[in-house]
Amino acid sequence: MSAALLVTAQPVTAPPVTAPTFRPTFRLKERAADCYTPRMRKSSLLRLSAAVLLCGGAWVAYTQGQQAPPQLKINKIKDNLFEIENDGGNVSVYVTGEGVILVDDKFDRDHDQIMSLVKSVTAEPIKYIVNTHHHQDHTGGNAKMEPMNPQIISTEEARENMVEGKMSGLPSITIATRGRIHLGGKTVEMYHYGRSHTNGDAVVLFPEHRVLAAGDMFTRGNDFPPLIDYAGGGSAREWTKTLDDVMKLDFDVVIPGHGAVGVKKDMLEFRSLMVDLRSRVHQMDVEKKSRDEISKMLVSQFHFGQLQLLRGLDGVIAEMQ
Ligand SMILES: [Zn+2]
Repeated sequence: MSAALLVTAQPVTAPPVTAPTFRPTFRLKERAADCYTPRMRKSSLLRLSAAVLLCGGAWVAYTQGQQAPPQLKINKIKDNLFEIENDGGNVSVYVTGEGVILVDDKFDRDHDQIMSLVKSVTAEPIKYIVNTHHHQDHTGGNAKMEPMNPQIISTEEARENMVEGKMSGLPSITIATRGRIHLGGKTVEMYHYGRSHTNGDAVVLFPEHRVLAAGDMFTRGNDFPPLIDYAGGGSAREWTKTLDDVMKLDFDVVIPGHGAVGVKKDMLEFRSLMVDLRSRVHQMDVEKKSRDEISKMLVSQFHFGQLQLLRGLDGVIAEMQ
């Protein structure tokens, strides 16, 4: 009791904010249970409350009380490489001849559909799952995959975020900066270059096909504006540097974290958008514009939704000062 009183009696001083390493002191209830949902175009109360639930740690309540998950769809990218779209992050499915390598596994509620879609293209078991980052719309299926004994891989930072967020289905293998999976005579390469959408984003290269699965450091379309998850270690300032390293890899086709499959040029355009976003925020800060004015600009010019503002607004303003 007295100890608690002592603690609260201490003067509270905010830590100094330095732009390149800014990380907000606030924490939502379950930081690592974040997710990336499409921009809320109609901003209806229902959809907003769904997003708050998804990102506020009440995922179980949501899944048990709401409608069935959206219909997923599998698309062939190359002969033995597929992508599963809709709901949550895009999933890559690589069929090696000795097993399947999956990149991300959407939400928990998508598990059955993912399994039946994988079975529609191969009878091989899932041997590896690479998580591009910790968010629930990319790792939510991990726990239900565990009985099949796949190796689950992420960056060290992504796993730390999952541990901190008390998320289930933790990766069994982590990479620091790079790693390779060899299976069925095929190779898959994983790279972690630094901060972007979070502090633990990995990209996954399929060298055989010159295809890259980018996770949420690259999203496509106005429905999927960049989400700078400062609470998850993201950074607008470092995002472009990370993309520059990624773009040195040898690939033509890119599977974004969300949105339609694109090509390398689309990633370059996304980089330009990040540069524009940063300079607009910086300029408005120089002009002493208010937080509200900057927020409105991000909505009208960069298609930010509630989630992007919640996660990124204060952070990007602080980082761009
Ligand atoms: Zn994400």
